[in-house]
Amino acid sequence: MAVNLLDFDLEGLTAFCESLGEKRFRATQLFRWIHQRGAAEFDAMSDLAKSLREKLKTQAEVRGLPVLSQHVSADGTIKWLFDVGDGNAVETVFIPEDDRGTLCVSSQAGCAVGCRFCSTGHQGFSRNLGTGEIVAQLWHAEHFLRKHLGTTERVVTNVVMMGMGEPLQNYAALVPALRVMLDDHAYGLSRRRLTVSTSGVVPFMDRLAQDCPVALAVSLHAPNDALRDSLVPLNRKYPLHELLDACDRYLAHAPRDFITFEYCMLAGVNDQPEHARELIELVRLYRSKASGVWCKFNLIPFNPFPASGLHRSDAATVQAFARLLNEAGLVTTVRKTRGDDIDAACGQLAGDVRDRTRAAERMQQRRTVVLHPVAAAASPTGAPT
Ligand code: SAH
Ligand code: SF4
Repeated sequence: MAVNLLDFDLEGLTAFCESLGEKRFRATQLFRWIHQRGAAEFDAMSDLAKSLREKLKTQAEVRGLPVLSQHVSADGTIKWLFDVGDGNAVETVFIPEDDRGTLCVSSQAGCAVGCRFCSTGHQGFSRNLGTGEIVAQLWHAEHFLRKHLGTTERVVTNVVMMGMGEPLQNYAALVPALRVMLDDHAYGLSRRRLTVSTSGVVPFMDRLAQDCPVALAVSLHAPNDALRDSLVPLNRKYPLHELLDACDRYLAHAPRDFITFEYCMLAGVNDQPEHARELIELVRLYRSKASGVWCKFNLIPFNPFPASGLHRSDAATVQAFARLLNEAGLVTTVRKTRGDDIDAACGQLAGDVRDRTRAAERMQQRRTVVLHPVAAAASPTGAPT
């Protein structure tokens, strides 16, 4: 199969161009065509020499992911389901806000961590995505949105690796993908606007700090090891003290001076005042080492799915929990749930191909708009259309 140019960061593309006997700067031109202009056809790349275009046509391609479906929520959130082959699919969600556009990107088909409250975790692990498959989600979303909004300006201003999968269990593919997102010749995101979310794969938190320090979110969900063991099985391998030590170390390299702790609010499980108090104590131990505020809390209302057997904390409980943390000096926000009418909210991403039928039913029930019902047929390569 031809080489997929979405698999390369600029360094990789430069090496590839050199292997074709081309000068290094050709790689930058090519990279800009692909990522800044959304080009998939070499013939469109008018300032590349014809001889290079011909070489590329025989050896390479820009291969996006076929779109299985695209749904638009009543609140403007868009969810794409991409085909990654062998019956697997991954989801990508665009969340527009007044001052930014955030893309939530998947790193794996399924997830091996198996958190109790996560639909992806319940599905089990299928496989890691390649760099090109991670990048293709942004490539498609950015250029699709530009086209539909009739703009040449950047639409995706923030990327969060909070879709399906544990990004730090797919490190080798993740880092070049992050580099493409950061590159000024591609998407030019700042490190502060690119967030990796992890359930706490400690050794790779340390490696990320060295290799590509972007903003870090850590999925905490519990104030003690016994409870966290039962919610996030990875905690048995990397318990809280190791995780928080790793956060401390990460801060020395982070583009922001805080780590975001995500905390999914589960009724009667981790949402009581004593949990808040225990959390405050836990964080205080570490706070003494760092100067000032070193973490922020983001409380996520649990998005239920049938197999979990868990329930969402009610709004008053979430507010009371947030108040306790805030009063103790821990900056705490409550995440707005977006796109839940199309199952695009946190933890609802199952990438299930049955999703297509489910979504169609929902469309009738809730007037979800399908913009591209036949996008897969119209665009087999996933090129933004
Ligand atoms: N694997 C990484 C990133 C993907 S999950 C991680 O766990 O951090 C992204 C976020 O969604 C995590 O904070 C996760 O805990 C949260 N999440 C998972 N399932 C959820 C659910 N059902 N409701 C609300 N948040 C959920
Ligand atoms: Fe995997 Fe994150 Fe879901 Fe846990 S919450 S199962 S780590 S995707």
